[in-house]
Amino acid sequence: MSNFALPQLPWADNALEPVISARTISFHYGKHHQAYVTNLNNLVKDTDLAAMSLEDIIKKTAGDSAKAGVFNNAAQVWNHTFYWNSMKPGGGGAPGGDLKAKIDADLGGFDKFKEAFSQAALTQFGSGWAWLALKDGKLTVVKTPNAETPLATGAKPIITIDVWEHAYYLDYQNRRADYIKDWLDKLANWDFAAKNLAG
Ligand code: MN
Repeated sequence: MSNFALPQLPWADNALEPVISARTISFHYGKHHQAYVTNLNNLVKDTDLAAMSLEDIIKKTAGDSAKAGVFNNAAQVWNHTFYWNSMKPGGGGAPGGDLKAKIDADLGGFDKFKEAFSQAALTQFGSGWAWLALKDGKLTVVKTPNAETPLATGAKPIITIDVWEHAYYLDYQNRRADYIKDWLDKLANWDFAAKNLAG
């Protein structure tokens, strides 16, 4: 049974404009994310992985070079769903409550977090992701190449930005730094991040 499905977006395809255009979403969600779902279903079909959850497939195939195709597609399915939820129209600003307190305690404050997150996103060479994640009870900022995800290393993802060129090239061309700044200022969904920290 191969039954992974492309999830609905949490907002309309033009809701993140002008930072992320409907045209970018049409390719990024409609083509790239869809392709990872289709590839994953084809790869796990008629194997013992087909009955497993997405998270379990990611954890089971991480670091196994014979299963790199399955890992890459499964992780990209998961990462993209998490990325869509990491953004909202009218987002940005700063978190409050427990998340703010935890960022203050573990990362030296929100400004320091923003600096570290921006730097991670900017310096991820080539394709990848920057994350705020909870590892061993502490918040940490990490970057991962390609499909790699903190899920595979025992960490709990809190929020992520996709810095593959397909995430921003139509809107920002080579200006990744501007995409990262606008993403933090206008799209970051701190409600989603707070739920991940609490859950
Ligand atoms: Mn992407």
